Amino acid sequence: MEFAFAGLEAPASIGKLSKIGCYGQYPGNCRRDLLRAHAVLPTLPVPLPIRVAYAPRTGDVYMPLHMDLDIITPNVMFEALYRHHGSVFSPAAEELQRFWDGVAKTGDPKLVNHPMLLKENWRRRAVPLMLHGDGARFTKTTGNTMVTIQWSFLLSTGFGWTKIYLIAAFPKSCRAYARVHAADTWDIIWAYVCQGFAALFEGTHSAVDPFGDEWPEGSAQRGLAGTPIADNKFFGVLWCMNPDAEYACNELHVQHYSANARCHWCPADITALNFRAVGDTAPWLPHVYAHGTDPPLPNHPVWRIPGVTRWHYPGDWMHSMDLGAVAYLHNGCVLDLTAADGPCAGANEEQRYLDLWNRMQAADRAALHALRMRRISSKHVKVMGALKAKANQCKHLAFTFMHVLRALPDADNIADTRLRIYELLVEAYIGRGALNGRLLTEGS
Ligand SMILES: [Zn+2]
Repeated sequence: MEFAFAGLEAPASIGKLSKIGCYGQYPGNCRRDLLRAHAVLPTLPVPLPIRVAYAPRTGDVYMPLHMDLDIITPNVMFEALYRHHGSVFSPAAEELQRFWDGVAKTGDPKLVNHPMLLKENWRRRAVPLMLHGDGARFTKTTGNTMVTIQWSFLLSTGFGWTKIYLIAAFPKSCRAYARVHAADTWDIIWAYVCQGFAALFEGTHSAVDPFGDEWPEGSAQRGLAGTPIADNKFFGVLWCMNPDAEYACNELHVQHYSANARCHWCPADITALNFRAVGDTAPWLPHVYAHGTDPPLPNHPVWRIPGVTRWHYPGDWMHSMDLGAVAYLHNGCVLDLTAADGPCAGANEEQRYLDLWNRMQAADRAALHALRMRRISSKHVKVMGALKAKANQCKHLAFTFMHVLRALPDADNIADTRLRIYELLVEAYIGRGALNGRLLTEGS
């Protein structure tokens, strides 16, 4: 318009663009007009409507019903990314080769007897994939939880939202359960998801849906039915499932963390094979599972996706380490340092905590490490239990307390042992950080 006011003629293409939304007067129409003016072919798959059971709660009664839920199966998204979005389709054959060569060197149990080893040229064709599921509150008033599952390329650089591909989302409060409603919402969703991952592994898009019916008219699945995945150049392999322990136990039926025998990788329990016993003589140690000695996998279809073993769920580092063992370690450390006969000076508890705080700050300044807490007080500790802190704070406190303990002039046996544990812990944090760049490096 400004061109016109100035008595100039705008180039035709700019003129066309400026007319969008009737010269911007109707922003609501801009998207429609833009797509009409510059036709863009859709390059991402249309979601697939699937029939699921659901049970919305009305008053005190659950009403079992059926509805259409839109999902995007992983094989169809994988194909679209391969075909139209080369920049995010990860990765190149050379990178894959490097990755699998590295995996083979580590003696990774996930690789033992893996069916992909029988596939021709697999190190240059197998694309490792990651599956994640979780629930998050999405309403302020009711605290209702939206449960979602999503996948991503294990070798993608970064885990921003453009590199994580949603498969399905469903509100927890509307889920139908088999034992109550004769059908389970997530059983149906998982049937499609697992079929998708199986297709990615086999290298061919499924000819029919998981229940043996034709794919719906107009669906991406119908168009791809029976065709090779990614021109046979690549196939997908589910290499890692990384939900938190709560999701893994409740949804994927991994051994529950509050059960008597609660470990997914060994038969440790709370009696004879006591999991609290650690060290070289721990009674559960000789019984750690290996291929062939492990009990049957949990009864959930993800464990039947080709190649998936119990080692494909690596556990929940945040809840079991940062907020688990590490938070317990910090709690004991703070209690001992601030005890009346401990190394921190002060006539009362408050003064001793202040002295500890000063030591923590001094230790961090000396180590060029940024303290992630604003102070420490008796409110952070329990008589027996875990320090009250966030996962990220617990991680960084490992550095802080290591340096605080090192600076003690005359450490006793307990402090010495604890210092050694902190040193190993910091080493583990740095090691993991160096491996995947996601945990921590000194000074970060
Ligand atoms: Zn175990």
